[in-house]
Amino acid sequence: MTLKQQNNPITEVDAVVIGAGFSGLYMLYRLREAGFSTKVVEAASGVGGVWYWNRYPGARCDSESIYYNYSFSEELYKEWTWSSRYPEQPEILRYLNFVADKFDLRKDIQFNTRVNSAAYDEEQNRWQVQLDSGELVSAKYFITGVGCISTANLPNIKGVDQFKGGWYHTGHWPHEKVDFTGKRVGVIGTGSSGIQSIPVIAKEAAHLTVFQRTPQFSVPAKNRPYDPEFIRQTKENYQEIRRQMRETPIGVGAQYRDRSILDDTPEERQKVLQEAWDKGGWHILFAYNDLITNEEGNKLVADFVRSKIQEIVKDPETAAKLAPDHYYGTKRAIIDTDYFETYNRDNVSLVDVKKAPIQEITENGIRTADGEYELDVIVFATGFDGMTGSLFKIDIKGRDGVSLKEKWENGAQTRTYLGLTTAGFPNMFMLTGPESPSVLGNMPAAIEQHVEWVSDCLEHLRENNVAVIEPEGKAEDEWSHHCRELADATLYVKTDSWYTGANIPGKARGFQIYVGGYAPYRQICDEVAEKDYEGFSLTVAEQTTPS
Ligand code: NAP
Repeated sequence: MTLKQQNNPITEVDAVVIGAGFSGLYMLYRLREAGFSTKVVEAASGVGGVWYWNRYPGARCDSESIYYNYSFSEELYKEWTWSSRYPEQPEILRYLNFVADKFDLRKDIQFNTRVNSAAYDEEQNRWQVQLDSGELVSAKYFITGVGCISTANLPNIKGVDQFKGGWYHTGHWPHEKVDFTGKRVGVIGTGSSGIQSIPVIAKEAAHLTVFQRTPQFSVPAKNRPYDPEFIRQTKENYQEIRRQMRETPIGVGAQYRDRSILDDTPEERQKVLQEAWDKGGWHILFAYNDLITNEEGNKLVADFVRSKIQEIVKDPETAAKLAPDHYYGTKRAIIDTDYFETYNRDNVSLVDVKKAPIQEITENGIRTADGEYELDVIVFATGFDGMTGSLFKIDIKGRDGVSLKEKWENGAQTRTYLGLTTAGFPNMFMLTGPESPSVLGNMPAAIEQHVEWVSDCLEHLRENNVAVIEPEGKAEDEWSHHCRELADATLYVKTDSWYTGANIPGKARGFQIYVGGYAPYRQICDEVAEKDYEGFSLTVAEQTTPS
């Protein structure tokens, strides 16, 4: 229903959802199926979320394709065919467009529109959501599907405006192809985005200079086209794939081997790690059950990967610069195609900007403490303000006008119940929010679980005439404490990364992800629902008696 207020239209819906990526699309589908009127607001001109924006050369997913999709519809699963082991960005975007078409989702999505603010109106028990188009959406439920890593981090380096060449951030890549042919290109950053794009850019550019602050561990993806027979079998085993996405630790079928790193002899360990290396992808992560908690054991795995880097990279000085010294797997465990091999090319050079920091961007290139590098194009592969960045971009205000940013002390202290809700913000849900398992696994699996929990919850509220759901302060305190306790027992917290917020100058250090694994988390959420939403306060709507 559309009303008019101060010449701006007001749309009234049951639920407003921000974002038309994996989470927003499925949320829309589920709510519509359940009979809730829903409006999705999306800043981009199309569906896809991060896969709409991250169009940089070499962009691929690091979950295997057969798991990197929805599993809620057997028909959908069987209709779509992935071409290779790790899906590339254009193919994932085609998949999400296919989903949007199949379920006719676009008619409830408003594209090219940003949400400026969302405020809870206590008197009316509704969320008033202000769009940058001037429209207002009034909704009973406010749901964020803004992604965990969707707000680009463009470092504040002096002089970028005076650079005469072109510059791009991997997370906001243009739709048209950027042609590097014959150009001198500089890439700043060696996280997943840098490591994926560097080998592809190197093949095109006249010269590529990589500006590396922190070397990263990466193992070969061993990407390959899928065999049609494998795909046929996968589709036949749809139920099993769905079970694996729901019941395994990170939603990709793999289980951790039930053995400590320190239980193996050096010979056994070498054999296990070599086999995992040969299989490619995330196999090393699953080779032992204590990689992320065992300092001594982690070092042994890190030594193994470092030895591989030294073997691959021919120039010893470059190889030494590429050797990471943090705990393996505590920054994102990256998988690549020919990343370290790329440094054997004559047209590629590596600059250590920890030793000689970037001082400024000049008209002609990048000046570090060591000198000036002349460039035609600069690629910022400098990552994102993760977990809270996209939530804080929207002015979200709960009870008494308190903003989410204030409540979470500007990110210093996220407080949630189950990573889905936060006290003082009634009828608001965050899909893959801080303190949920989210990025520590296969996102579509995490997203399906969240979306299904939220839509089941809304149906429960409707059936029981509940007007307001809100977590109790005690439940929230316990959940946030539990998340921190689990994280503090791991090596994640000892490494500077976007997980810990260390990549954003001035951002408070924390670890806002539930590390207990997808399957245990699902069980906890299910138990909460089964116990009549234990830890939440549910307020029944006042009955109006007919006169
Ligand atoms: P990232 O992992 O945060 O890496 C950013 C890189 O830029 C780091 O090497 C960082 O160095 C460097 N950097 C940042 N500011 C800098 C500065 N001022 N000067 C010099 N270097 C600077 O970001 P990302 O590579 O975009 O990846 C982010 C996350 O997105 C990944 O961890 C992953 O979860 C996801 N992702 C996944 C895929 C995939 O599925 N394959 C692909 C891309 C991204 P420091 O390490 O020193 O901070």
